[in-house]
Amino acid sequence: MKIALIAHDKKKDDMIKLAIKYKDVLAKYELYATGTTGTLVMGETGLKINRMKSGPLGGDQQIGSMIADGVLDLVIFLRDPLTAQPHEPDVSALLRLCDVQNIPLATNVKSAYIILETLKAGGFEK
Ligand code: PGA
Repeated sequence: MKIALIAHDKKKDDMIKLAIKYKDVLAKYELYATGTTGTLVMGETGLKINRMKSGPLGGDQQIGSMIADGVLDLVIFLRDPLTAQPHEPDVSALLRLCDVQNIPLATNVKSAYIILETLKAGGFEK
């Protein structure tokens, strides 16, 4: 199973905390991330992560392309709904493609907890 991790700047601390808490669960899967999120999570957890470009520089589109190709199975995208993003069209496209492909998508920490707890319990397979 392949999982993508993305966090807007004000949500990066939340992503790091999440990745530390669920490090053992995440370590079982192939991980992908946008550039800065991936670098930070790798640095804090030691998890191996395939990094795309930074989100505003095309990383969201690269992840979106993987979703369109049916490569990814789960997306955790901690969005900041209170800050305007220069790459908002890319963000919207990525979220839309998750729905097109019926890919589980968590856009906030509590949803991510629920999904990761389910993964931990072996209750979610692709
Ligand atoms: P980043 O991109 O991980 O490179 O910061 C995330 C985003 O803003 O989409």
